[in-house]
Amino acid sequence: MKISHLFQTHPQTFSFEFFPPKDEISAVDFGINVGQLMKLNPSFVSVTYGAGGSSQERTFALVDYLQNKIGLQTMAHYTCVNASKEKIQADMQTIRAMGIENLMALRGDPPKGIAAFDPHPDGFTYANELIAFVRAISFDFCIAAAAYPETHPEAPSREEDIRNLKKKVAAGASFLLTQLFYDNAGYFRFVAECRAAGIACRIIPGILPITTRSQWERFSAMGKAPETLGEQIKSHAGNPKKIYQSGMDFAIAQCRELLSKGAPGLHFFTLNKSRATVEIFEEVMKS
Ligand SMILES: Cc1cc2nc3c(=O)[nH]c(=O)nc-3n(C[C@H](O)[C@H](O)[C@H](O)COP(=O)(O)OP(=O)(O)OC[C@H]3O[C@@H](n4cnc5c(N)ncnc54)[C@H](O)[C@@H]3O)c2cc1C
Repeated sequence: MKISHLFQTHPQTFSFEFFPPKDEISAVDFGINVGQLMKLNPSFVSVTYGAGGSSQERTFALVDYLQNKIGLQTMAHYTCVNASKEKIQADMQTIRAMGIENLMALRGDPPKGIAAFDPHPDGFTYANELIAFVRAISFDFCIAAAAYPETHPEAPSREEDIRNLKKKVAAGASFLLTQLFYDNAGYFRFVAECRAAGIACRIIPGILPITTRSQWERFSAMGKAPETLGEQIKSHAGNPKKIYQSGMDFAIAQCRELLSKGAPGLHFFTLNKSRATVEIFEEVMKS
């Protein structure tokens, strides 16, 4: 089923994002975690493509497995990285033949250490071009695209980034999934700006709970981590259990507020783990 059809009956959706496990041990671990997450009956799941060095074939294999063996409504991520038009067409055929009806269409990132995105000579520079191409070759996917409440790092301005976001919707994206963020007010401000710019589709917030000190430090270095949580984490130095609980408390409060103020669901970046997502989901569903 297309996710856009699901929207007709579901004012809010709850979805989980995975990446293809990199070896056999991680695959076993992944299976256990998916088992736990399946019990939550997600609206859909998605599988990243080529991110973090994972091979693209493994994305397709995992998408096929989740959709056809496990029976989860699955969305395949896909990027313009190293993709000629011919390759895109062949890959779309492969995904469609698996019965996949949902596609997250992305530009992708340049390899680590390289500043600028280098498009394939017979490919695309921006996600809106990929979306338009997939639509033009008449693969009838429900297409999602990425949105950035804190502005994409390469965008010249916030306004320009929202104008570019609108191009993805105009090209045929049916809904948007956001990059992770920890400032709900910023998300709602972004949604209001998108509406003012004429973007009417769902903008589903992406959630990544911070559960360890090193994770907080990583996001803090990117200017993303919340200060209030940082203070708690520092005060629990050497006590990973308390740090985990502080991260959970923050994420649960964040998700509750998002839903109570009208967010159209939650998309969890699970990092292929289940514990934090299960705990947050169960708490949020109680309220
Ligand atoms: C929910 C989510 C899932 C993701 N999954 C993956 C994944 O599976 N694999 C992966 O490799 N990466 C993934 N990413 C990361 C993504 O590939 C990067 O953030 C990438 O840098 C931008 O991709 P995009 O599709 O948003 O690009 P675009 O929409 O093309 O935007 C890239 C930049 O170009 C600008 N721009 C866009 N269109 C135009 C235009 N027509 N003219 C001029 N400027 C323009 C934008 O303002 C922005 O600064 C994901 C991101 C999110 C939020």
